[in-house]
Amino acid sequence: MIKEIREPLIFEISAAGKRAAELPALDVPETKSLLAGVPLRAELEDFPEVSETEITRHFTRLSQKNYCVDLGLYPLGSCTMKYNPKVNERLSAHPAFAASHPLASEDLVQGNLEVLKKLEVFLCEIAGMDAFTLHPAAGAHGELVGMMLIRAALEARGNARKYVLIPDSAHGTNPSSAHICGYTVREIKSNDKGTIDLASLEAAMTDEVAALMVTNPNTLGVFESDICRIAEIVHAKGGLVYMDGANMNALTGIVRPGDMGVDVLHINLHKTFSTPHGGGGPGSGPVGVKKELAPFLPVPVIAEKAGRYVLDFDRPRSIGRIRAHFGHFSVIVRALCYILSLGPRGVREIAEFAVLNANYIRKSLEGEYHLKYTTASMHECVFSDKLQKEHGVTNLDIAKRLIDYGVHPPTMSFPLIVQGALMIEPTETESRRDLDIFIDAMKAIAREAKEAPEILKAAPHVTYVSRLDEVAAAKFPVLRWEKKA
Ligand SMILES: *Cc1c(COP(=O)(O)O)cnc(C)c1O
Repeated sequence: MIKEIREPLIFEISAAGKRAAELPALDVPETKSLLAGVPLRAELEDFPEVSETEITRHFTRLSQKNYCVDLGLYPLGSCTMKYNPKVNERLSAHPAFAASHPLASEDLVQGNLEVLKKLEVFLCEIAGMDAFTLHPAAGAHGELVGMMLIRAALEARGNARKYVLIPDSAHGTNPSSAHICGYTVREIKSNDKGTIDLASLEAAMTDEVAALMVTNPNTLGVFESDICRIAEIVHAKGGLVYMDGANMNALTGIVRPGDMGVDVLHINLHKTFSTPHGGGGPGSGPVGVKKELAPFLPVPVIAEKAGRYVLDFDRPRSIGRIRAHFGHFSVIVRALCYILSLGPRGVREIAEFAVLNANYIRKSLEGEYHLKYTTASMHECVFSDKLQKEHGVTNLDIAKRLIDYGVHPPTMSFPLIVQGALMIEPTETESRRDLDIFIDAMKAIAREAKEAPEILKAAPHVTYVSRLDEVAAAKFPVLRWEKKA
């Protein structure tokens, strides 16, 4: 790889009078009458002026500095950065969908409502739930909606209760969602297999506990094999089980959370059902519920009446509206398209390949990198930098060095119960060849850590910028060009 040269800002290559397009001189009288009275923007001060070649090269060069899932493996644990088939993009951008107005009357959008309803039905089948709402804007929003549903259902029973139990292996959004919903979080410890310790759960589960929020598979990529017993313990004390199903790609077509005693769950369409979601959105976090909680679902609910789809707002026990319109419609179209194009066999293969690929990586790197939990993996595996630390090399150095090998780094320093974590999720869409490229890079880095750790300390070497001040970048982002005085 050659070291990249710095691409200037477009303002820096601007020169007065340059144009990307030349129009022929006007051969008719100039008239402003069409725009009479319209407040037109005056000259934009310091607006960049560049030629067509410059503008094309500028943006193409910038785009080539990005790493993307169309280039290679993107092993961010828990994020499920899998390849998104282009046909989903084409269909969701179809004008019949993309140009329909969210406020159009029901009569004009029967097809759109059918898309929503169909996906609800598929998700009920895949997750084993009785009803779904597609409104939540993303996973964390789904968690909040799910907790609001639990609170409403418990209030209807007479007592909303005080506490929510969350294992230390849960996704970080779980405690915050419970907290925002007004519950106090109590942590449950994991055992040495990386699963919930049943004795701790039993001790903590009182009649003041509203729910257990369980990420399954958890953030160690380990399946809670006692989930049915766990649900029994929670239900016996009148609590409800919330499952964070963001990583359903480990389970689809094989087991159904609803059959495991789960009362409420969210699924991340943008992860499991294929929507590009780098850069923070858009996502979609549908929430599925068992019958008891269905009356509380957000409005509007899509109902069928005399062979037509209608929006039902007459739901007196609903928690109300939680999102404008119907959620992120174009993500929903992609998900439906993905499920229909895979079919039942393909939906099962999502999970089979996600689990196979993660185990292939885990087995291939065992010994080279430390594994705190050796339990077989579901969709991801979590190594640590323990062996490399002996040579002064940390997970940050390893992640940065991967960039030099042309691979995106994995999720780092999470989950918190693994010191110096490297959380790797290959996803189901990767071929053996792409997995081997990653494995070979990780092995080469393990060797370098022993023989030439200074290379890792200064990595990445091939990028235009190397080690950034990541805290400052997050806290004081500079997002706007300002002309120097
Ligand atoms: C990604 C993820 C979330 C949060 O989903 P967002 O769409 O990013 O809000 C929650 N839980 C788990 C397990 C996840 O992987």
